[in-house]
Amino acid sequence: MAEHVDSHNENHPTQSIEDTGEKVVYLLVYHVVFIMFVWAYWQTIFTKPMNPLKEFHLSHSDKELLEREDRGESQQEILRRIAKDLPIYTRTNSGAIRFCDRCQLLKPDRCHHCSVCDKCILKMDHHCPWVNNCVGFANYKFFMLFLLYSLLYCLFITATDLQYFIKFWTAGGRAHFRLKEYLNGLPDTQAKFHILFLFFSASMFSVSLASLFIYHCWLVCKNRSTLEAVRSPVFRHGTDKNGFSLGFSKNFRQVFGDEVKYWPIPVFSSLGDGCSFPTCLVNLDPEQPSSPTGSNPANKSAAEGRQFPSKPLRESQSRLLTSTPSWSENETATDKDRKGASNPGMTIENEA
Ligand SMILES: [Zn+2]
Ligand SMILES: [Zn+2]
Repeated sequence: MAEHVDSHNENHPTQSIEDTGEKVVYLLVYHVVFIMFVWAYWQTIFTKPMNPLKEFHLSHSDKELLEREDRGESQQEILRRIAKDLPIYTRTNSGAIRFCDRCQLLKPDRCHHCSVCDKCILKMDHHCPWVNNCVGFANYKFFMLFLLYSLLYCLFITATDLQYFIKFWTAGGRAHFRLKEYLNGLPDTQAKFHILFLFFSASMFSVSLASLFIYHCWLVCKNRSTLEAVRSPVFRHGTDKNGFSLGFSKNFRQVFGDEVKYWPIPVFSSLGDGCSFPTCLVNLDPEQPSSPTGSNPANKSAAEGRQFPSKPLRESQSRLLTSTPSWSENETATDKDRKGASNPGMTIENEA
């Protein structure tokens, strides 16, 4: 980083790196991290957010039917009928089917309408002004890698710059002499200013990126989006902030995929289709297909020709659900409670 600085003076505070090995390591690490950072950033910006499949859109006849009804309850009745064939498990706070007026569709689980993009975005996390794009199912992995590599990039610069930064303040003379030299426009002092600026900007970005990255790591572990962390998803039996959590390992693989070799590189490897997500609460819901994998034959015939039940991604989802569960201790307790067929919340829901 400070290689361009002249090294004619032994006592110079910003002399160049002399050790060739060190130079090589610096340049190599720098460029690897830089390329990964740019790649992940590019992918986050230019990956189009995914929108709900056409199965979630209202058909022409359903639209007409819905328009004819003016009462909220009868409209809900129609929406409920349509939702029966779809893998939708979440509701609004009042228990109604989640419907987007703007897009005229039934919102899949974890999908939200973005007012900036003016579209429903699958597993919407947030609309990010830094990447001028919606962060959601399609690019959440890229966003995580972008945070990781930009953090590594800033930390690397801070670390390699540190010794020159210290020299700047300690090497001979008081601070105001340095300023004088700088104002006189001496070539070496310009470089010192660069060192100073580089150190402050890199270290400050490191702090903010680290806090954002740690927060998103926590979200991945818990299988929550930023929106869900703010407001917990509402299922048929009630609000459950851990409704989509399948345990750390499965939560992580849902975002980063099954193959370890794809984890660090910004290529799409997330599991699922973004329209439906395995939830430990599925079996509680008598009105919905017993499994989100669409293995229910009645449901299969009803949804013939649909993309849903036969999509390969369902395999990954069923794998996520069927392999040995790895709930955390407290989740096991609540899960047992949930499994009870006499869930009072559900009884009410069935009677309604
Ligand atoms: Zn919408
Ligand atoms: Zn957006």
